[in-house]
Amino acid sequence: MTYISGQDRPEGGYEKPSGCPFCRAPAQTGDDSLVVARGETVYVVLNLYPYNPGHLLVCPYRHVADYTDLDPAETGELAVYTQTAMRVIRQVSSAHGFNLGMNQGGVAGAGIAAHLHQHVVPRWGGDANFMPVVARTKVLPQLLTDTRDLLAAAWPTNPR
Ligand SMILES: [Zn+2]
Repeated sequence: MTYISGQDRPEGGYEKPSGCPFCRAPAQTGDDSLVVARGETVYVVLNLYPYNPGHLLVCPYRHVADYTDLDPAETGELAVYTQTAMRVIRQVSSAHGFNLGMNQGGVAGAGIAAHLHQHVVPRWGGDANFMPVVARTKVLPQLLTDTRDLLAAAWPTNPR
């Protein structure tokens, strides 16, 4: 919701790659990086504002907004990495279910509409009860890097 409310919105907005967190995330390689896996054309990053623990985003490296803008290689790898994200999350945290999807355009709820991102949100029975607590907790940044390490360690070398 923070993305949507614009609290951290950069000067000049997300429309240009220079202000776009999904263009900048792959370049971050330090301990605070939230990138879980890197493919040829797409990468996987933990959502900074997760709806649930392990909430991943599969993003093309290219700054494109619309699903129809993806080329065949990106389309294929986005699908494979979405499947792999589900497998890895199931392995690590035994998710009961998932919400998958892309919000296309601000009117559809996309917080950063200029750069396409596929949500992979793990779900557990009864999780709706603690989602607001998780979203507001101050220790979340530390938990996020722990979660990143866990998922990155479980990510296969050659996803199929
Ligand atoms: Zn971008």
